[in-house]
Amino acid sequence: MPLFLQEGIASVNPIRDAIIQASYLAASVMFVLGLKSLTRPDSARRGMQQAALGMLLAVIGTLLNQNILTYQWIIGGLVIGALAGYPMAMKVPMTSMPQFIAFSHAFGAIAATLVGVVEYRELTREGLLTNGLAGALGFEVLFGALTVTGSFMAFGKLQELITGRPITFKGQNAVNIMLMAVAFGCFGYLVYNPMAAWAFYSVVGLALFLGISMVLPIGGGDMPVVISLLNSYAGLAAAATGFAIGNNVLIIAGALEGAGGFILSVMMSKAMNRSFANVIFGAFGAAPSSGAKAAGEVKEPKTISSEDAATQLAYAGSVVIIPGYGMAVAQAQHVCRELHELIEGQGGAVKYAIHPVAGRMPGHLNVIMAEAGIDYGALLTDVDDANRVLGSADIAIVIGGNDIVNPDAEGDTSSPLYGMPIFRPWTAKVTYVIKRGKGTGFSGVENPLFALDTTRMIYGDAKGVLGNLVKEVKALNEGH
Ligand code: NAP
Repeated sequence: MPLFLQEGIASVNPIRDAIIQASYLAASVMFVLGLKSLTRPDSARRGMQQAALGMLLAVIGTLLNQNILTYQWIIGGLVIGALAGYPMAMKVPMTSMPQFIAFSHAFGAIAATLVGVVEYRELTREGLLTNGLAGALGFEVLFGALTVTGSFMAFGKLQELITGRPITFKGQNAVNIMLMAVAFGCFGYLVYNPMAAWAFYSVVGLALFLGISMVLPIGGGDMPVVISLLNSYAGLAAAATGFAIGNNVLIIAGALEGAGGFILSVMMSKAMNRSFANVIFGAFGAAPSSGAKAAGEVKEPKTISSEDAATQLAYAGSVVIIPGYGMAVAQAQHVCRELHELIEGQGGAVKYAIHPVAGRMPGHLNVIMAEAGIDYGALLTDVDDANRVLGSADIAIVIGGNDIVNPDAEGDTSSPLYGMPIFRPWTAKVTYVIKRGKGTGFSGVENPLFALDTTRMIYGDAKGVLGNLVKEVKALNEGH
């Protein structure tokens, strides 16, 4: 009897079987509750705890199934996994989280693919392979293997082990579509003739190759969308595993992950005002865009000293802070909170405008600001709401942000950013922009905000500049 198929058969111990199924049901409920809680920043931590509890219940339920387990292998796996995973998770900086997630996905997908291969061999040997099971296993290895190499590629690009630039050649999309058609053809033949081992292993091989060839033309900055999509594929592979081995919790968790990952990818594309197809096939960032203005066309931005900026901040009635990727790179959130408290101490109101695609992964800046202990009530996460508040603010401070405040997204139809919802800091009385120099943002296009008459640049690393502002505001307070 194949190792995993035994999960689906009648147990000799009905009480233990009932406990296992109850733990799977409770785990599924916890996963759904966890996802629901994750939709709001103030309940997100609880959501993670609910999902983790769900996973614990699923693991306990599985470990109770003595029919199918060899405990020494499981303990060995647990020890190796914990020894490798714990230090990695503790040490990885927030800015490297996308590649860390890609790396972990690759290992989850390796597990799903290996289960598929072992199960195919066992079922074939026992002569128990039906057309339905062959379909489930083929689907599992197709999406599992694609996720393995795709995730390693995404990791490599984000970690800069390979170039983050899109690697393209003529007819690339056509080649990929053809390879995918061949993979689906082999899959179809496998369902028709489950004993055709060549078709099964061709699906595995083609999927491994497709994972590489489909991620190659995608730019490093678009990797979060790709990672989320691969997450969705890993979920589909897990759900297929659930069908193959008759495990309900795997079907439910896989379906949730499959749907969740896909919705997140589409939402990220939408927040960047790019079609999903443009992210996957568009090779964004390959060459300077037509919307990028020649250097000569852009006016020289005006600067302001930390001393003068601090004086204005100390007397401002309302300040809106717009954090971007540079805030996360500089790890400036704690000193930002210090400045925030000083302004509030002087009677000013401080709000944060958090853009849905600020930073490099969904919720990046929400997490960074939460880490610094900023109250959720101070976060404006809706672009329209934030723009309303900006319209009546005394000072807007853009900290390490660029694309999320580029006016061309509203006014220049030739800009690659055109149509992306953006914040309008220029509607405040004055805008300060803190960044190290004249670097462009993720899109690589110039930002006319910096040269507007009401904008003042404060050049430098975000943490250093904010530290200076804190010192100056404190000195002003003490002088009173
Ligand atoms: P951005 O457009 O990439 O701009 C970041 C700016 O931060 C740069 O212009 C850089 O200018 C500055 N910077 C870097 N290090 C700094 C430091 N240590 N101190 C101060 N400034 C620093 O970032 P964004 O405005 O947050 O926009 C996010 C972009 O990423 C959007 O285009 C979005 O579509 C894209 N994206 C987001 C996601 C997501 O899920 N969040 C996913 C994929 C793509 P200097 O070099 O001059 O300092």
